[in-house]
Amino acid sequence: MKNKFEKAIIEKLFIELFPICRSITGDGVRKSLKILQNISQFNIKEISSGTKCFDWTIPDEWNINDAYIERSNGEKILDFKNNNLHVVSYSTPIKEKMKFSEFNSHLHTLPRMPNSIPYRTTYYKKDWGFCLKHEDLQKFKEDEDYNILIDSSLKPGHLTYGEFLIKGELEDEIILSTYCCHPSMGNDNLSGMVLWILLLRYLKSLKTKFSYRFIIVPETIGVISYLSENKNNLENVFGGFEVTCVAGPNDFVYNSSFLENHVIDKIAIKTLDELNLKFTKKSFKPIGSDERQYSSPGFRIPIVLLCRDQYHDYDSYHTSLDNLDFISSESLLKSYILYTKIIQNLEELDKNELQVEDKTKNTKSKFSFYSTLNPYCEPMLSKRKLYPELGGTLFQSSSDTKSENEKYVELLVSTLFYSDGYTSIEEISSKSGFTELEIEQMSDKLVKEKLFERKKNVR
Ligand code: ZN
Repeated sequence: MKNKFEKAIIEKLFIELFPICRSITGDGVRKSLKILQNISQFNIKEISSGTKCFDWTIPDEWNINDAYIERSNGEKILDFKNNNLHVVSYSTPIKEKMKFSEFNSHLHTLPRMPNSIPYRTTYYKKDWGFCLKHEDLQKFKEDEDYNILIDSSLKPGHLTYGEFLIKGELEDEIILSTYCCHPSMGNDNLSGMVLWILLLRYLKSLKTKFSYRFIIVPETIGVISYLSENKNNLENVFGGFEVTCVAGPNDFVYNSSFLENHVIDKIAIKTLDELNLKFTKKSFKPIGSDERQYSSPGFRIPIVLLCRDQYHDYDSYHTSLDNLDFISSESLLKSYILYTKIIQNLEELDKNELQVEDKTKNTKSKFSFYSTLNPYCEPMLSKRKLYPELGGTLFQSSSDTKSENEKYVELLVSTLFYSDGYTSIEEISSKSGFTELEIEQMSDKLVKEKLFERKKNVR
């Protein structure tokens, strides 16, 4: 069989990496990166808690040993050791005897998918919580006492990430990025980590024309810290791929870069067609994963995604049902073959076929312009109370808290993403689907928050 060796690596990594409790910092990330280093070496870096990265600050490091809820007779109703999704990531420690009514508000379930445990985080608000199957709520009795334990620690430490630069004949670089902060879930994003390391191994075996920058970071805060540390090393990057959600059961989804028809987009579509792969096409939206930081106004690096069951869009997204039964090594292998073919096609490009965005092309419009004061990555929104503090719920198809929240977040993030001082309200409206009035009102709100300025004299 073709790619027998790769398939064996995939299956081994699934088993080794799936059970590890990862978060945006801590030993779970370190252990996971070390396991990946066994397949192909890359550099591991650590940034201290408290370090400023653009508008963000590296938080304290979080680690966890154990957590449970047990009856007073010692019978455990919920046990972190059975599934690490049971604990809200970044929960502060607690050890107390409580009645159900006293801790009820710290329990998170998904009534629409009663047999799944949701994935929730509280990175930037000191809180604690448990996640459980909705159907298991009936195990609790109002007047009984329960022993609550979360044996976690939150103290100054480090954020850990990995990187490797493969130097080609040319300095022009392509980014291959993924994130390593999700605990036990298969498609989002164990699959991305596994494909990423296979691609690193593959590319090291070639003599390449272009250079390839491999980045594996905790989502959002990790990529923001990476970009903050490497701001001046990225001039040669002409595009990239966010390697995520690549082993689900369904057809490929091609998610365009924000430029839509960049050379990276063209190569991706050409390769999907060459391999006769069925795919659906989706246009860029600024509410996605780390592509929204790479493509933020200060960087504007076009990033393409090629997913199989893309984040947000499958029922088990951010739940315990996104497990090893949902993903498969065959599916991931198809993603691997697609990517290796994309790389072969990229390598055939001529240097003069690379496109660079002309940021000034829109300045002739007579409409209003706003400019972000934080062009490098997204500003830290939750510290300004502009973003929901409980993570994991947004755009989760099975979540009940569907909310105006999501429309608000999409409007907020779209306004931030496009307001580079060169894109008019009218253009932002047509790109994002929000009305000009909605964009203008959000922009004025961001002026009040000192995140935006209104550009004068642009005619
Ligand atoms: Zn996710």
